[in-house]
Amino acid sequence: MVEGHRETFFFYSRLVYYLEDMMHQALWLDKDEKGTKASFRDLDDALLGEGEVVVAVEWSTLNYKDALAILGRSSVVRKFPMIPGIDLAGTVESSDHPDFLPGQRVVLNGWGHGESLFGGLTSKVRVPAAHLISLPDAVSTRTAMAIGTAGYTAMLCVLALERHGVEAKQGEILVTGASGGVGGFATALLARSEYQVVASTGRMTEEARLRRLGAVRVEHRDEIAKPGKPLQKERWAGAIDSVGSHTLANVCAQIRYRGTVAACGLAQGMDFPTTVAPFILRGVTLAGIDSVKAPHSERLAAWSRLASDLSLDIIEDMVNEISLSSVVDGARELLEGRVAGRLLVRIG
Ligand code: NDP
Repeated sequence: MVEGHRETFFFYSRLVYYLEDMMHQALWLDKDEKGTKASFRDLDDALLGEGEVVVAVEWSTLNYKDALAILGRSSVVRKFPMIPGIDLAGTVESSDHPDFLPGQRVVLNGWGHGESLFGGLTSKVRVPAAHLISLPDAVSTRTAMAIGTAGYTAMLCVLALERHGVEAKQGEILVTGASGGVGGFATALLARSEYQVVASTGRMTEEARLRRLGAVRVEHRDEIAKPGKPLQKERWAGAIDSVGSHTLANVCAQIRYRGTVAACGLAQGMDFPTTVAPFILRGVTLAGIDSVKAPHSERLAAWSRLASDLSLDIIEDMVNEISLSSVVDGARELLEGRVAGRLLVRIG
């Protein structure tokens, strides 16, 4: 190579490396008159997001809500363009906040990321320090995302049942949508605390896995998903419902006197076709669970219990690993009800 050309070549090579270092790959959602479009983009640092901490994302997940956002099926995304992903786990790359130092392992769930703030389906993102939790030593970034919002929400539901005095000796606990992410973790976490868990599912092919997670019995969801009477035979000391609609109405109608239902989802529907009868005649408590804006103290309590209560075997039984480039297909599979357990997304 002639000397002048060599210098020019190395200059441009260094420039390319430098520019590549400034770039990160992200799933990018945009919207036009035809609807939401998803594409993969190399983004520069100017498009990292807002906040004091830059996180090198190692793992993310695909939740039901992410699938809706990516496929534009509902108004999950409040602002376009958007990087979807309500969950992320990774390592702090740089920080202007004293609580977080480079190299620290962190997890983020919710807080509007993937909705109105850039989310986790990207190799790098800038986020507010207040939205991060430092991971317990026992939890790797991969494990944190294998658990993800689904596991963390299931834990919030279990904590709500405990707070409302539901005890293992009082009788069986029903978990609906049991073969999904929240339902699977709810089954495992309740079983770990020695509750007798009955798993309700539309997929009896998942029975063996649900029993491995700790269900004492698995019931088909046919009956419980249909319209039913407002008061039915008292069956459950408590329940965790991620399904909503007629299912939640029937669950409330079957809760024993002064029992509690933790309700967190709407997989069957947003409606809640019931009456006040279970609440005023049987003293049933309906505990609403929101993971997105749950206070920091509850998140810490949930992550600390997740670290102690979930074994790696259980977690691995719940996850299917996919790459960032497969998330759009993964979102379709999820919304078509073909995914059992969780989709864990490898980023870094
Ligand atoms: P998944 O898709 O993994 O699981 C949902 C499960 O619901 C499915 O696996 C299926 O279980 C059941 N289901 C699906 N469609 C229907 C239907 N038409 N009728 C009855 N049951 C149905 O989702 P996730 O577990 O991640 O989330 C579950 C719900 O919880 C979602 O609505 C999600 O938006 C919500 N959520 C809410 C959070 C909060 O903060 N409140 C946080 C996280 C999730 P099976 O095949 O076993 O019947």
